[in-house]
Amino acid sequence: MGSSKLPVLLLPHPLILLPTARLTLPISRSLADAILSLLDDSDAVLAAIPLPAPDSPSEITYGTAARIARLVRPRNQSSPTQPYLLSLHGVERIRFPSPIQIDQLDILPIHNVVYSSSDGIPSRDTVEAFKHAALVLLDRLAKDSLQPQRKDDWLRVAAIVEDISEQRAAWMADVLVAAVSSPYPDKLAFLAATDVEDRLRRATELFVKQSSIQEVSKKIASAVDESFSRQQKEYFLRQQLAAIQRELHSLQSSPASVGPGFGTGGATSELDDDDQADADDLADLRRKIEALNVNSEERKVGVREWRRLKRIPQGSVENGVIRSYLEWLTSMPWPSNSTTTPIDVLKDPSFLTRARAQLDADHYGLDQIKRRLMEYLAVVRLRAIADTAQTQAQGDAPSTDASLGVIPTPPKKSKGIKGPILLFVGPPGTGKTSLGQSIAKALGRPFQRISLGGVRDEAEIRGHRRTYVASGPGSIVQALRKAGRNDPVILLDEVDKVGHSNFHGDPAAALLEVLDPEQNHSFNDHYINVPVDLSQVLFICTSNTLDTISAPLLDRCEVVELSGYTYDEKLHIAKRFLLPKQINANGLSDSQLTLTDDALLHVATMYTREAGVRSLERAIGAVVRFKAVEWAEWLDKENDAARGEGNAKRNENGNEKQDGNTNETVVGNEWRATVEPHELEKILGIPRWDGEERDREEKRGVVYGLVVTGMGEGGILPVESTALPGTGRLKLTGSLGDVIKESGEIALSWVKTHAFELGITAGRGVDPLKVPDVIDVHLHLPAGAQKKDGPSAGIAMICAFVSLLSGACVPKDIAMTGEITLRGRVTPVGGIRMKVLGAHRAQIRKVILPWANRKDVEHDVALEVRREMQFFFVRTIDEALEAAFGRGALGWRKETVLLESRL
Ligand code: ADP
Repeated sequence: MGSSKLPVLLLPHPLILLPTARLTLPISRSLADAILSLLDDSDAVLAAIPLPAPDSPSEITYGTAARIARLVRPRNQSSPTQPYLLSLHGVERIRFPSPIQIDQLDILPIHNVVYSSSDGIPSRDTVEAFKHAALVLLDRLAKDSLQPQRKDDWLRVAAIVEDISEQRAAWMADVLVAAVSSPYPDKLAFLAATDVEDRLRRATELFVKQSSIQEVSKKIASAVDESFSRQQKEYFLRQQLAAIQRELHSLQSSPASVGPGFGTGGATSELDDDDQADADDLADLRRKIEALNVNSEERKVGVREWRRLKRIPQGSVENGVIRSYLEWLTSMPWPSNSTTTPIDVLKDPSFLTRARAQLDADHYGLDQIKRRLMEYLAVVRLRAIADTAQTQAQGDAPSTDASLGVIPTPPKKSKGIKGPILLFVGPPGTGKTSLGQSIAKALGRPFQRISLGGVRDEAEIRGHRRTYVASGPGSIVQALRKAGRNDPVILLDEVDKVGHSNFHGDPAAALLEVLDPEQNHSFNDHYINVPVDLSQVLFICTSNTLDTISAPLLDRCEVVELSGYTYDEKLHIAKRFLLPKQINANGLSDSQLTLTDDALLHVATMYTREAGVRSLERAIGAVVRFKAVEWAEWLDKENDAARGEGNAKRNENGNEKQDGNTNETVVGNEWRATVEPHELEKILGIPRWDGEERDREEKRGVVYGLVVTGMGEGGILPVESTALPGTGRLKLTGSLGDVIKESGEIALSWVKTHAFELGITAGRGVDPLKVPDVIDVHLHLPAGAQKKDGPSAGIAMICAFVSLLSGACVPKDIAMTGEITLRGRVTPVGGIRMKVLGAHRAQIRKVILPWANRKDVEHDVALEVRREMQFFFVRTIDEALEAAFGRGALGWRKETVLLESRL
């Protein structure tokens, strides 16, 4: 370990010179002069010291003794800015006996230095570890080298490393660390490692670290490279494809190429040029986005999505999703691309007259309902007029397009020109949907129908979020798009059948939001995700019953009840509307087919038994189709006959042969256009009802009650009771709810209490179910699969029990409804109009009803029905029994009761 005095050169940060390495650095002129003077010495050696980093301690303790290899003068020596270039060759590590401090870079102070010898021999294990790490790194570097020359160099070094001896390992470590790029602090620490063992260990660590860095960066680079090259490849292939298609297209469209082999004859089809169509679609989309109102929410979203679309490669799934979203977004009737109702239509003084004419033209009868609808339309009209007046007063009136009578864009604060929401309630086929259509026609607005029957998923109303696979907008948005305007009439069909809260959300709540005028100016569809204004939409709801409609929904609606038609009304509807419609639909004309009134009535009474006219329409359709086939056959025969006239003349027996084939409706050669009742059986089959009501029977313990079914249809329901040996109990069957069961118990209690007065038991206080025999009473309501509930069967049950226990029968043409109390009163029930109509259809001619329902009959039941029926309005059960069994039929012991009470 020798020592000597050496001039010290400070290497600017972050330069470092390791033994065995070479370093070239620019130096100032003054420093160059100092070095030049050194060169006069025989061995020009200096101590190259790394300048510590600015924030680390400035004391220097080690460096490298370096030989000056070269000093290059600048070309233009007079230029002060051009530096000298000094090349140094590291020879050996040195150390200062005591730390030195140098502030100036351009002087070469002389200091005492100690050479740290590399003589020691490292342990075998250390050398092996070093070799292994070095080989891994060299291998990695060779693999990563892009130039073949460098690759060879690394491999050659690797070969040397493999053969290196233990004595030379430290030297090799110096060479490799100098050659490999590694962080400055690591190199500095390596330089400071004067102990051979320590130096090798540090080199090993450094190589391991470097190999892993190299590997990770290689991986990242290749991943980036891969995705980049895939994109490039896709782009390149698409460009090629487009070019090929263009070439093919030009080949096919050039007339020279049209050969006999071309199926299409070279004609261009709209299916051919995908690319062009695609570009056109995109341009169209862009135009539509540009047409949206500036600063509107829909435009902002549209622009944002358009930008995303541009960034995403064509043909990818994401691209398709965004495009279909944009197509939906831009085709919605936003204020920018929607026309609203011309206010002219509503302002026109003849609007109401024309609306009434429209309703009359589309529907027969329904006078009360039409009157209600006219009131509704009058309100709509007044609101519209008030609204325009308000808008004109609000804004700078001259700038609005009032002169044309058109509201160009609905004013922000507009309340919407609508009255309350109408809710048509009634059985199927009573004209709920077609009334909605007539209203739309009268207002000159598009009509859309949304069926809510069985909607369980909120998303069906509100749409799926776009993250959902195959997502799309909800039914409201779809209807708006189809309507193409923001003020259509939307019929929400069967609101009573919409599902309530479940794990798919709450469709009923979504519906409420749609219908709520406070909220629906910014309805949020999950797919569109831009608030949609529904305040101009006119909603009409329909339902079969009111029972299953939630209270908040009912609260927003104005109920209009359609109970059903009488046979007379049905006859008129069939004659004026259904028959012409069917004749038209089946390609016949009025002159080719008529059904007599009798025939129509026959169809209505014998083949259908419904409140509405849907089955009637179907049955008439069947008759018309049957006649259409006959007509076609008759025409063919006529043509044949015309052709074969010559032959027929020659063949005198021809007529006879033809007669054999002649259809009943073809008399001779004449076409018989009229259908009579007796022909109906051949066409429609045996009637379902024969008018005689054979299946109804007058029997002990059986009476007929009146009901309204879940579909809103009125009808009659037998209440059957029978006595059987038992223990004096009551048994109730027929899918009965709690309320109707309780009615049964009340009825039996009342009958037991009054058994003596009714002449059922011989003594007061005797239980008729125990004396003379112990019996059970079984009460059953048929159609056992249908759920039944409600208190209105009370008097029917009482009559059934009285009949069963007394032996008297209730005539089969009497039906009844009414709730009873334990004190013997009969209280009113609902659905009177439907029940009475149902009873009328079922050929019932006498009806027992609660006294309090008298007004319902007078107001709601058609006069012709009232004329044909006899009504008994009763206040008490006694009166009901008298009406049902007839005066004096029961062995009343009233006098006794009265006498006793007087006592
Ligand atoms: P709903 O919606 O109540 O089930 P629709 O409106 O679909 O019934 O009516 C069924 C058919 O009966 C339609 O063809 C309709 O035109 C016809 N219709 C119902 N009521 C009348 C009526 N009062 N006058 C004329 N046609 C009617």
